[in-house]
Amino acid sequence: MIGKRVLKRRLLRKHERHLINAPEIQEIAEIVQNARRILFITGAGISADSGLPTYRGIGGLYNDILTEDNVSIETALSGATFAKDPLLTWKYLIQVESACRGAGHNIGHRIISEFERFKPESWVLTQNIDGLHRSAGSNQLIEIHGNVTRLHCTSCRFSEIVPSYAGISPPPICPRCFGIMRPGVVLFGESLPLLALDALQTQLSLGFDLIFSIGTTSVFPYIAQPVLDAHYWGAKTVEINPGVTEVSDAVDYKLTLRAAEALPAIWAAMGKTLPKL
Ligand SMILES: [Zn+2]
Repeated sequence: MIGKRVLKRRLLRKHERHLINAPEIQEIAEIVQNARRILFITGAGISADSGLPTYRGIGGLYNDILTEDNVSIETALSGATFAKDPLLTWKYLIQVESACRGAGHNIGHRIISEFERFKPESWVLTQNIDGLHRSAGSNQLIEIHGNVTRLHCTSCRFSEIVPSYAGISPPPICPRCFGIMRPGVVLFGESLPLLALDALQTQLSLGFDLIFSIGTTSVFPYIAQPVLDAHYWGAKTVEINPGVTEVSDAVDYKLTLRAAEALPAIWAAMGKTLPKL
């Protein structure tokens, strides 16, 4: 008797085989083969395939209700709240981080990192703070909203990398000067990190031949703009998202698929073997 799991896997393979032969996937695979510089713009949707909640951005944890402290999650996780009540912000940072803890990168992250080996001038611009692109092997990576694993002191220059927030009692205190530590992520209402912005500007000034927008609603201008500007470089654009977004009308190809379905299909249509997780 075939177990449910095996049956599901077989159906998935059949579904993927069907996708590989879809004319759009074939055309995209050909464009990828001929491209030199590819930009992958990613958002919460790609990490949803790792089981991460996609909360209006981060977590599915607080959908339309206020937190138990009677403020919205955006207020709790804002720079203004952190400045006056770091304990409150840390309480919710730890909640969000613990909901994501233990999730690993998925096949979508892995294929994007393989693209970097295949097309060495490719870059990833991500809004995700989960570090999964890096763990999947991407190096040419712009984490425009920072990364949860880096903490730094608000009073001195001390910083450290932490594997998770397990065991942190909020707010964490700097071992050097007893100042309050903060995560290296962009809180609501804060400016983007200058180093990441510089890196993005440099890469955009060099242009791209192909831009993928994956699992993001593209509500932020710096996320939508490269897609909207692509025609200046003569670049093709592909959106991978089951839903309709701010850039859906502007792209050359719109795949209403999850990243974990579309990317393996494109990779396989190029005649390549799927990478191991
Ligand atoms: Zn310090």
